[in-house]
Amino acid sequence: MEKNAGLSTRCVHSGEIADAQGSPHTPLYNTTTFAFASTTDLLAVVEGHKPGNLYTRYGLNPTIRSLEEKLAAIEGSEAALAFSSGMAAEAALFLTYGKEGIICIGDAYGGTLELLSSQLPSLGITSHFLLGSEVEQMTTLLKKGAGLVFFETPTNPALEILNIRHLSEVAHASGVRVAVDNTFASPVNQRPLALGADFVVHSATKYLGGHSDITAGALLGAQSLLEPVRGWRKNLGQTIAPETAFLLARSLRTLVLRVERQNTTAATIARAMQSHPRVARVLYPGLPDFPGHAIAVEQMIGFGGMLTIEVNGTREDASNIVDKLKLFAIAPSLGGVESLVTQPVTTTHYGLPVEERRRRGITDGMIRLSIGLEDADDLIADIRQALA
Ligand code: PLP
Repeated sequence: MEKNAGLSTRCVHSGEIADAQGSPHTPLYNTTTFAFASTTDLLAVVEGHKPGNLYTRYGLNPTIRSLEEKLAAIEGSEAALAFSSGMAAEAALFLTYGKEGIICIGDAYGGTLELLSSQLPSLGITSHFLLGSEVEQMTTLLKKGAGLVFFETPTNPALEILNIRHLSEVAHASGVRVAVDNTFASPVNQRPLALGADFVVHSATKYLGGHSDITAGALLGAQSLLEPVRGWRKNLGQTIAPETAFLLARSLRTLVLRVERQNTTAATIARAMQSHPRVARVLYPGLPDFPGHAIAVEQMIGFGGMLTIEVNGTREDASNIVDKLKLFAIAPSLGGVESLVTQPVTTTHYGLPVEERRRRGITDGMIRLSIGLEDADDLIADIRQALA
C-alpha cells in the first residue's frame, strides 16, 4: 500500500498480513506460543534481530502485530503497542516516564485521576494537577522538574479544548515529553503527534472499538520511546488478547465511516438543542460560540460525536430527563454505535466534593451525550420528548 494513502484506505489495508489460505485480512491466531525450525531462528527473534512471533504475552503474535501496524498507520506514528485496556496503556506509560513527576492538565478520566493521585504516589510517582485555566503555571512546575505532561482534549464532560501545539512547545522547551489522551476525538478528528505530542494514548474501548463490545487500549509514538514501555507491558501482563486484537482490527476498518457520521449527527443535535427553551448551554467544539472553538478549528479535523447539554433546573430535574430518554442508554462509556447518556454528577464526577466540582465547571444540570449511529431526527425527537 502507498505510504501516503488516505485514512480510510489505511484503516482497511494497513497491517494486514496475507495468509496461506487466502484470507483477505489477518486471521485470528489464537495461539500462546510459536514454534521455530531451529535454535538459531528462535534466538534471532528473542534477541530482536528479526521481527517475528514468539509468545503472545510479549505481543509477539501475528494478530497483535498486525493490529499494531494498523493502529500506527491510522494515528500517523512510527510504532504502536496494544493493551488490554486504556488504563493498562496509561499505567505502563506513567510507570515508564513518570518517575520525575507528571503534570496532568485539565479534566481527565476518573480512573486516570485515581491512578495518578491515589496509587502511583505509593511507588514514588507524583503528579501535579492544573486546570485548563491554570496552564500558565505549567512553566513554573516544569522548572521544578517533570518527566511527562499529560492531558485529554476535548475533555470530559465539558469538552474543553487544550492547545496541543502550544503545550507541546512549552513542555519541550524544558525537555519534557507530552502525552495526549486522544480517546474523545479519535484519530479521524485529531492527530496529536502531528501537532507536536510525543505519545498518544487511547481507550480503544471507545471509538476505536466502536461497538461497546471490547475493552482495549493503545499507546502510540516513536519506536525508541515505546521500547521501554514494552517491557512493563510484558511483565505486568497487560498485552491485548488475540481475540480482542482481531475484533479491534475489524472495528478499525470502519472507523472513518462511523466517526464521520457521529460528527455530523452530533453537530446537527448540538444546533437543534441551542434554541430549546429548557437548555441553558450546549457544549460542542463545533459551535462557533463555544469557548474552545478557535483552537478546535486549528487542531481538529472534525469536532467529534460527544456533546454536553446543560439544562435549567436541579440535579433531580436533569436526572428525570436522563431517565425519560428512550434511544440513549444510561451507561458510563462512549464511542459506540448506540447512543449513550450520563449525568456527570451521578457518574464520572460523583465522588468529587461540591467545591471541586464547581472549580472544574461541572454543574448539576450537565447531561453528556455520546452520539451513536441512529438517525439524527430520531435522536432529536427523543431528546425533545425527554425535555418536554
Ligand atoms: N481515557 C478516557 C478519556 C476514558 O474515557 C477512559 C474510560 O472511560 C479511559 C481512558 C480508560 O479506558 P478503559 O476503560 O479502556 O481502561
